[in-house]
Amino acid sequence: MKVHPLVTETLSTRQRSQIIDITRLVERAVAAAGIQNGIVVVFVPHTTAGVTINENADPDVKHDLLRKLEELVPQREQFYLHGEGNSDSHAKTALVGNSSTIIVEGARLVLGTWQGVYFCEFDGPRQRQLLIRVMGE
Ligand code: ZN
Repeated sequence: MKVHPLVTETLSTRQRSQIIDITRLVERAVAAAGIQNGIVVVFVPHTTAGVTINENADPDVKHDLLRKLEELVPQREQFYLHGEGNSDSHAKTALVGNSSTIIVEGARLVLGTWQGVYFCEFDGPRQRQLLIRVMGE
């Protein structure tokens, strides 16, 4: 299986917590590599931003996910020790994770009908990086 050159994308987030659909960016990287079958790994090299796969049909799902994460991990808690004041951002990132692996079959991402790839910002607005590695032929 051929390892294609690393693709680095830059994202500018606009809110403290924000979910951005990056499915197209991943599709573009796969198309540029020109593979038919393989896998693509999406990695977020940050400690307060991550990536996940979830429903991209109803935009309310993004809102609800952020709302629930905020309820589970409030921005301010008495017991946080970390001096940067963004302990919640680190915890939310730990919950969603930093990478997703997607199967590529017939030059297309194998995603469920309602699935999209989401970049998850938890300490924005910032400029962020997204690394995409395509493997396959
Ligand atoms: Zn921090």
